[in-house]
Amino acid sequence: MANASQTERPQTTAVPEYDAVIIGAGMSGLYQLYRLREQGFRVRVLEAGTEVGGTWYWNRYPGARFDSESYSYGYSFSKELLEEWDWSEHFAGQPETLRYLQHVADKFDLRRDIQFRSWVTAAIYQEDTQSWTITLEDGISFRARFLITAIGPLSTPTLPRIEGRDSFKGQSFHTARWPHEPVDFAGKRVTVIGTGATGVQTIQTIAGSVGHLTVFQRTPNWCAPLHNGKIDAETQQKIKAGYPEMFARCQETFACFLHTPDPRSAFEVSDEEREAFYEKLYGERGFGIWQGNFRDILIDRKANATISDFVARKIRTRVKDQKVAEKLIPKNHGFGTRRLPLETFYYEVYNRDNVELVDITSTPIERITPEGIKTSAKEYEFDIIIFATGFDAITGSFDKIDFRGADGARLKDKWTHGPQTYLGIMVDGFPNMMMLMGPHTALGNIPRSIEYSVDWVTGLIRFAQENNLTRLEATSAGVASWTDHVKALGVGLLSNEVNSWMTGINSNVEGKQTRIVARYSGSAPAYRARCDEVAAKGYDELRLG
Ligand code: NAP
Repeated sequence: MANASQTERPQTTAVPEYDAVIIGAGMSGLYQLYRLREQGFRVRVLEAGTEVGGTWYWNRYPGARFDSESYSYGYSFSKELLEEWDWSEHFAGQPETLRYLQHVADKFDLRRDIQFRSWVTAAIYQEDTQSWTITLEDGISFRARFLITAIGPLSTPTLPRIEGRDSFKGQSFHTARWPHEPVDFAGKRVTVIGTGATGVQTIQTIAGSVGHLTVFQRTPNWCAPLHNGKIDAETQQKIKAGYPEMFARCQETFACFLHTPDPRSAFEVSDEEREAFYEKLYGERGFGIWQGNFRDILIDRKANATISDFVARKIRTRVKDQKVAEKLIPKNHGFGTRRLPLETFYYEVYNRDNVELVDITSTPIERITPEGIKTSAKEYEFDIIIFATGFDAITGSFDKIDFRGADGARLKDKWTHGPQTYLGIMVDGFPNMMMLMGPHTALGNIPRSIEYSVDWVTGLIRFAQENNLTRLEATSAGVASWTDHVKALGVGLLSNEVNSWMTGINSNVEGKQTRIVARYSGSAPAYRARCDEVAAKGYDELRLG
């Protein structure tokens, strides 16, 4: 390991045109641009979409909205922004969030450094200039000392590998590639494939406006009520007055949500107390039932069974046809071991006459036809097929770009058996590249994690500038140690024993059928403490040159 003073640095003559190129103008990219520009750096943001917003630009499907409280989701860095922005609902819908991010871009004059319609296809490190060459789909290249990926953990949508998919004559959309024009559902025969958080929001929103809805479900998910509501003027005032305390709380909780685990075990209380606690959580807003539940429900099968049983009983009460209710109750994983979809009268949708639930584990989809979908039991005719089939998560967006490091190695090859990172931010062999919300980082209530990571990356780049450094690289030992640490933290978590995007599984992508540990699952405060320590020690765990 070396630091600035110990290392003799080669003099680079060619000066890259940008200090940093950021890929992506979503929540991370916008804030990273703001911070780097504040420090006087020359920055270019390359964004594939036609607008800012990332996730909130692409996911325009009906009913898309926050599952974290709006006020805990917004940026915290500008008091003025906090003061002037009114969230209209406790869990804002996608159009409002997109407007918010557009407002941020305008307020801080960010657009002048953002280039839209710019799909990055390759990023290659050049040792001679100690810089990155970043190339767009149209062949145009940019050169930057630092490359910052702000490409999101859930931004590469995947379509099912079903025979005849392209033969369908009606309209079909992936939820994350939803058209900008309104879709007319009136009187239409519509199907939704997929029942994750996205499918649940879509289904509950369109059921009342379509002619007929058929839901093809492969794996039911445990869902809990969102309990959204409008924010009245008095509450708005209280929220604004309480911002400092609220953000301080988010810094202290396990995953930066307003909710954090109850210190008790599910078995430290009587059966009656446990039932009353679950009832209370089920009646409260947001993720409390998942993130603020007994400390052992996500690690102890027996504790988990108590909450799973409680929610199963709720589903049986809410769904009239008990055969349908049983189909909606997950049998192969416990409550909260996959990312919990929050819902608004989702289960009641199945009491409607115009809605049918098809369990495709018992009657598999055989093919998509020009008219609709053929299962092993029946042929269905549709006007619209909605694919709520999820994403090639966490590493998928990295796989799509040809990242090549110092020795020409491809990142995709390096990560064949799962990601290997240093703090979830850097990779050995890929100097001057930093990842925001990449693998192995603390995700949780994502804007809170974004703000921390952006500030850390900004600090590192400022350190490089102050010390006249042109090459920053994670060491192999540092990467091995962090990767081992992340894997060790995942041991014993029930969620790591379940197939989901969180464990790197995607049945629609070749090579993504084996579970990996792709997320940091320790606490956010512990993550920040470790990163702070690295910075405080002058980044001496990095190879600096
Ligand atoms: P997802 O959770 O991965 O769900 C995809 C769904 O599609 C699953 O039900 C899956 O079934 C099904 N599916 C995939 N391929 C299929 C195939 N070939 N045949 C049949 N079914 C298939 O994806 P998502 O719902 O888009 O959500 C991903 C994540 O995005 C969420 O967990 C959440 O973190 C985030 N999100 C957040 C919000 C919010 O904040 N409000 C809203 C939406 C999404 P299997 O389970 O059997 O694979």
